[in-house]
Amino acid sequence: MNEARSRLIEAARAVCGVLKLRDEFSAGGVGAAIRTARGNVYTGVCIDLGSGLGFCAEVAAIAEMVKNRETQIAAVVAVSGRRILPPCGRCRETMAQLDARNLDCRVIVGEDRDVSLRELLPRHWLDEDRHTEQQGGGDASKPRASP
Ligand SMILES: [Zn+2]
Repeated sequence: MNEARSRLIEAARAVCGVLKLRDEFSAGGVGAAIRTARGNVYTGVCIDLGSGLGFCAEVAAIAEMVKNRETQIAAVVAVSGRRILPPCGRCRETMAQLDARNLDCRVIVGEDRDVSLRELLPRHWLDEDRHTEQQGGGDASKPRASP
């Protein structure tokens, strides 16, 4: 996947670049790129505003993907200049809730390294029954014991 990984990193770098907004606000300091299971690439940039407003570059790329009626991510990367940034907790959770198959997507965390989203988000709460069944520790068809 090295060539595909490099292309996705370059797609994220191509959209990354700071755009000054009013006051101390800015956009584009982080760029993200997603390659979907269908092979399409979607990109996005962050918007950094005050009062907790704004959003991550990954979210912008996810919105582009969903606009095109796709939800399954094959690989994702975020960059700030030459740095490759792992997704924040909110973005990890967003990808996992969007499509259960995204737990197996590849998250690029370095020029030569990627990990699964599941590695970054182990024992996901929406995946817990399946995980328990795989471990032989429970039966999702049976009600859980009361606390
Ligand atoms: Zn994020």
